[in-house]
Amino acid sequence: MRKLLIITLLLGATQLFAQDNYNHNKFKQLKQELATPNVYRTASGAPGHKYYQQKASYVIDITLDDAKQTVTGKETITYKNNSPDALPYLWIQLDQNVRAQDSETKLIKTNAIGSKMSFDALASLHNNFDGGFKLDAVTDASGKELKYTINKTMMRIDLPKALMPGATTSIKIGWWYNVNNRDEIGGRSGYEYFKEDDNYLYTIAQFYPRMAVYNEVEGWQNKQFLGNGEFTLTFGDYKVNITVPADHIVGATGTLTNASSVLTSEQRKRFKKAQSEYVTPVIIVTQEEAEQKEKTKDTKTKTWSFSATNVRDFAFASSRRFIWDAMAVKVGDNTPLAMSYYPKEGNPLWEQYSTKVVAHTITSYSNHTIDYPYPVAISVHSKSIGMEYPMICFNGGRPNEDGTYSERTKYAMIGVIIHEVGHNFFPMIINSDERQWTWMDEGLNTFTQYLCEQEWERGYPSKRGPAYKIVDYMKGDKKYISPIMINSESIMQFGNNAYGKPATALNILRETVMGRELFDFAYKTYAERWKFKHPTPADFFRTMEDASGVDLDWFWRGWFFTTDHVDIAITNAKWFKIDTKNPDVEKAITKEMKESKPEFIGDTRNKTAIKETYDERDPSINDFYDTYDPYQVIALDKHEYQKYISKLTEADVKLLEGDYNYYTVDFKNLGGLVMPVIVNFTFKDGTTEVVRIPAEIWKKNDKEVSKVFFFKKEVISIGLDPFLETADVDFSNNNWPPQMELSKFKLYKNKKYGWGAGEKENPMQRAKHSEELEKEEK
Ligand SMILES: [Zn+2]
Repeated sequence: MRKLLIITLLLGATQLFAQDNYNHNKFKQLKQELATPNVYRTASGAPGHKYYQQKASYVIDITLDDAKQTVTGKETITYKNNSPDALPYLWIQLDQNVRAQDSETKLIKTNAIGSKMSFDALASLHNNFDGGFKLDAVTDASGKELKYTINKTMMRIDLPKALMPGATTSIKIGWWYNVNNRDEIGGRSGYEYFKEDDNYLYTIAQFYPRMAVYNEVEGWQNKQFLGNGEFTLTFGDYKVNITVPADHIVGATGTLTNASSVLTSEQRKRFKKAQSEYVTPVIIVTQEEAEQKEKTKDTKTKTWSFSATNVRDFAFASSRRFIWDAMAVKVGDNTPLAMSYYPKEGNPLWEQYSTKVVAHTITSYSNHTIDYPYPVAISVHSKSIGMEYPMICFNGGRPNEDGTYSERTKYAMIGVIIHEVGHNFFPMIINSDERQWTWMDEGLNTFTQYLCEQEWERGYPSKRGPAYKIVDYMKGDKKYISPIMINSESIMQFGNNAYGKPATALNILRETVMGRELFDFAYKTYAERWKFKHPTPADFFRTMEDASGVDLDWFWRGWFFTTDHVDIAITNAKWFKIDTKNPDVEKAITKEMKESKPEFIGDTRNKTAIKETYDERDPSINDFYDTYDPYQVIALDKHEYQKYISKLTEADVKLLEGDYNYYTVDFKNLGGLVMPVIVNFTFKDGTTEVVRIPAEIWKKNDKEVSKVFFFKKEVISIGLDPFLETADVDFSNNNWPPQMELSKFKLYKNKKYGWGAGEKENPMQRAKHSEELEKEEK
């Protein structure tokens, strides 16, 4: 860095451009990759003038049998064909068939046995749970049987005559199925069994045959449900009657329409109070009341009725073990209720946090996307899970039995509630095709979750979002990395690929590429355009560009269509100053440069080793050059300089005498992803200056570029990505001159000192333990 080079100014300049194959250019516009715009979806990324979507409304009667753990139901689906196409058959999703005995999910799951295996893992291998839908009847509205064909998790119903554009039809289906035990079989839906009081907690979803989506993008989206690619669903209105043991409490999608027949007058009073309470949740069923109910089992039943408008799905939770609290939230003109249902095992965490986190989530997400439009937002505690449905979600985060909990449990619980409640926006309202594109809901939701977490608590330990957190994944073996734009079932490293990487990419757009103002407007525009509609990836990509005026094709191409990573290096930097030709200045500098050079070791040694040279012995051999000082300014030098200056224009002289330091810095793109180059210059006086170069610097050569920077001040070091915003995977090549980073290593004596019993306690337990010790010592 400190080596100065002098440049001589010439008239005229040549520039060389590296050529790259156009087909591989990282700035090539996304054309073939995206669907051609049409009357349904515009080139701006908005719904087109002929945009349509189907509507499927449901009236469902459900009975939950607490003794047999079965769900039995009958439903009437009213399906409106808003498409311009006649439909000779309809496709219905039978998601529970993923757990049917002939399900292909088990067959296509790859596995192998090693030298060790847990009992649970072996038991799950042997598990032969019979969980599929048993259909009783499929008929039209008048009860006439309809011809149907079941293909695993999908069912085709052949209509007697095609459903014409604009026409509506009704279908009735009856069914039952065995509910899965989550602890043994897993699952988004299922029950948890509490052995100590022989009670169940049900979180029930995908419990009814659901209409598949038909549109101009996929035709029928009837891709099988294999387990990873979630759900693709049509909007509609729901009326659901749920019959459960009379002592159960039920939480569900929608508004409870018969509170007077299922709640006690005391519960109704508390429920009413919650509707005008905005700070502290009102407890509607207390822990004492729930514990009292655990002791007996009511043999009578009650039917809870719910109605929900413009939702894509319906789910519910039921148990006699539920504690229930609620409070109101102001969102625009709406005042939805934030509510939580949890067994006593969730306390003290759940009573303190859940409902407040729900309230914060819908407020924060509403600010970043659209106002939360539904009447309730519910968080249900269910061990070790996070799963979302419209207005209701099932969340883990359970304290230890002694009521203490680790910091990790606390933040995992808050994080999962924010995430799952956040799913109300993506994909429940901004209703993307989950079966095909996991990132469209998980990625956008994880990004918005990050914004929400940071607004919950300053310095919140968010797991995903900031660029530097994705580095380990991005620099990993590409064999185990898939691009974001991939079918949901083929994703490798699910969490990093579909949650972490898109969330990071959006953060980089917001903080680095677009800036907060342009990004926030475009993101909100996407949410507004596609609320209660079915967006595709192209609609998202196009809207973000359309609303911001930023060409992001290179960004989508690199971050969403490839597995490249970011690694930009400074490979060289050279320092220049102009040769002013002013003898007073230049001769002094030349002298200083010469004198500052180290002395050759032979010369140093010769000073003493050679006792006397020839010319010291015989000075008569000396001539002009023995006393000539090349750095002395003579009259002729000054005369020549004046002549040179007189030929220059005033502007030329200004440049010549500007006294700037020029630096040519060479950058190399080692990772492949083109990204903005953020350069931090540190000057001799200790000050710094950051230069932000857009990614387009790589547009002609995406492998290496050079760029000249100039300052009055002298630069002593140059660094890349000083604010950790680009996910650069290797910082050892980010500095010029290269810098060493300090790492620590630990010394140990033997294992006994490595893991003391005390270290296994969580900080809450350690604090208690410590208090006890102090007491004993007194
Ligand atoms: Zn999610």
